[in-house]
Amino acid sequence: MDGEPQAPPKASVDLGPQCPHCGEPWLRPTNLPGRYRCVYCLHRFELTSVCPNCGEHSTIVRMSSTAILKCNACGDSMLQAV
Ligand SMILES: [Zn+2]
Ligand SMILES: [Zn+2]
Repeated sequence: MDGEPQAPPKASVDLGPQCPHCGEPWLRPTNLPGRYRCVYCLHRFELTSVCPNCGEHSTIVRMSSTAILKCNACGDSMLQAV
């Protein structure tokens, strides 16, 4: 009985948001809301509610989409290094 198929160890399967520090797509949410950690370079980031680039407020919708990590107005990253 092996109801759970083993996922092949391919990096392309589980690509997530890109890390602003190293550029690798290994950003993963932590157990803290709005906090992310790059499992590649181990830097931690916090999702800000105000764009650090243009000052636009952003509504943080908790979805597993990369769109929430970017400013709606200027497209800059809403992640700040912690
Ligand atoms: Zn990184
Ligand atoms: Zn912005």
